[in-house]
Formats: sequence, structure tokens, C-alpha cells
Amino acid sequence: MGKPVFINSYYTCQIMAATGMLAGRIALVTGAGSGIGRAVCRVMAREGAAVAAVDLNQEAAHATIQGLPTAGSMSHQAFCADVSSGGSVSELVQNVRAAFSALPTVAVNSAGITQDAFMLKMPEERFDKVIAVNLKGTFLVNQTLARALVSEGITGASIVNIASIVGKTGNIGQANYAASKAGVIGLTKTAAMELGRKGIRVNAVLPGFTETPMTDVIPEKVKATVTSLIPLNRMGQPEEIAEACLFLASDRASYITGAALEVTGGLSA
Ligand code: NAP
Repeated sequence: MGKPVFINSYYTCQIMAATGMLAGRIALVTGAGSGIGRAVCRVMAREGAAVAAVDLNQEAAHATIQGLPTAGSMSHQAFCADVSSGGSVSELVQNVRAAFSALPTVAVNSAGITQDAFMLKMPEERFDKVIAVNLKGTFLVNQTLARALVSEGITGASIVNIASIVGKTGNIGQANYAASKAGVIGLTKTAAMELGRKGIRVNAVLPGFTETPMTDVIPEKVKATVTSLIPLNRMGQPEEIAEACLFLASDRASYITGAALEVTGGLSA
């Protein structure tokens, strides 16, 4: 009877020792003013990272950094940027570099939007807008940060791109969104191949149906139908997606790159 107690306390010690998985790291998080991005900031700050919280809505990014646990001597900072603009992303990386006196070695790309419509009725502008933010925005942050890291000879970095299970399954009313997220998976795998030798890992997290402001607008009846298809029989919480991002960002995932990790409660393609 003594053995299980020993095993339990052993694992408890391991979990306790896990605090500080990102100690001393700077983590840049886009879409940080809401939902999954905000949860990622909380989890990364809990694990000792100094957070650069980035959002189109600077007030929301500021609200996110309020109340985050402090990361040693470095304070968290909020930044305003539009990820769909190359100029804005370049300025962002320079500003983060200047504010922290170092480049981030962790980045999570969570900025994203939906603009749903049936394909037969979808205006061209809605298609372009969703691709511009979700796919091009993710590309620009990957490219700009990786260029800066490579030019400074910094290795041991990890980028996590938030895609979606919809990028594999497709979804009625989301031709633009599903295409953007399929693109993020392809971008991630390519970036992983090109950047591996330069000491940068790149992975994707594919959330399923997650409770955030993005899904708050979905009618309850539709939510109930989708939830009934999820093996765990509930929507995900943003923190559950954030924990997967933390793992991929940390050195515990040191041999993982180019992966597309589904965090869906069992809903799969
Ligand atoms: P959310 O609560 O709407 O958060 C998205 C954040 O991104 C918002 O703060 C938004 O700012 C910001 N943003 C939008 N456009 C931007 C831009 N051009 N530049 C910078 N920031 C921008 O959504 P979420 O549910 O947390 O989604 C986060 C990511 O997870 C997205 O990539 C989404 O596609 C993905 N995802 C979500 C689910 C889900 O079920 N929730 C499932 C799969 C994947 P504003 O509020 O000012 O627009």
C-alpha cells in the first residue's frame, strides 16, 4: 500500500518542479487581448516568461498584462500591431527588441478572425480579409522574427502558430477561414524545414471548438449540436489550448518541430 503513495508524491514533486518552464525567456503573443492569446500570456507568465502582449486593440493587450505574475526583473509590455501589415510587424519586432533589450525566443501567433458566409455568397473582400489576417499575418510574424533571430545568431527559439482543426476538416460557411488555417499548417511545416538548422522550431496547434469571444456569437443550438460530436462532450477552454502552446514553446518539446498538434477533445479530421 506504501508504493502508490510514493508514486503519487513523486509525480507531485515533478509537477511542482515544472514551474518556470520559460524562466528568462521573452514570449511574443499576438491576439493577446482576447481568448486563447490572453490565456497563452497567463500561462507563459506563470512559467516565468516576460510577455510581449500584441493586439490590434492596445487597450485589450494592456488589460491582459495587468495582473500577470511578474517575470523576475523584466516586466510584461503591451504592443499595438496589425499582423496583416508587413510594416506594422517590422515595427513591432523592432519595438519589442528595444523594450526588452533582446529578441523574443518564444512566439505564439494567435491573432485571427472569422468572417463567415456560404461559399456561393461569400464576397471577395471577406475571403481576402481572413486570408490576410490569419495566413499572411502568421507568415509575416514568422518571417520577421526568424530573420531577426538568424541575423543575431540566436538559437533555441520556438514559434507556435495557432491553426484550427477546421483547416483539416473544412467547415460549412468557412471557406475563407478553413483555407487560411490549412495554409497555416502548410506554412508551419515549411518554416520548420527551413528554420530547423538555424535553431528555430516551428509547430502548429489545432484547437477544436473553444469557448472564447470568437465562439460566443454562435447560437446555443449550433453549439449544442457541435458539442454532441466531441468525444469529451464539451467545448475546450482557452487555458487548455494555452497549455499545449506552452509545451511546444518550452525545451520539453526540444525534438518536436513541424508538428500539427490537435487539441480538440477528440474531434478529428
Ligand atoms: P478572439 O477571442 O477573437 O481573439 C483574437 C484576437 O486577435 C482578438 O484580440 C483580435 O483583436 C486579435 N486580432 C484580430 N485581427 C488582428 C490583427 N490584424 N492584428 C493583431 N491582432 C488581431 O479569438 P480566439 O478564439 O481567442 O482565437 C485565437 C486563435 O485561435 C485564432 O487564430 C483562431 O482562429 C484560433 N482558433 C479558435 C478557435 C475557437 O473555437 N475559439 C478554434 C480554432 C482556432 P480584436 O478583438 O481587436 O479584433
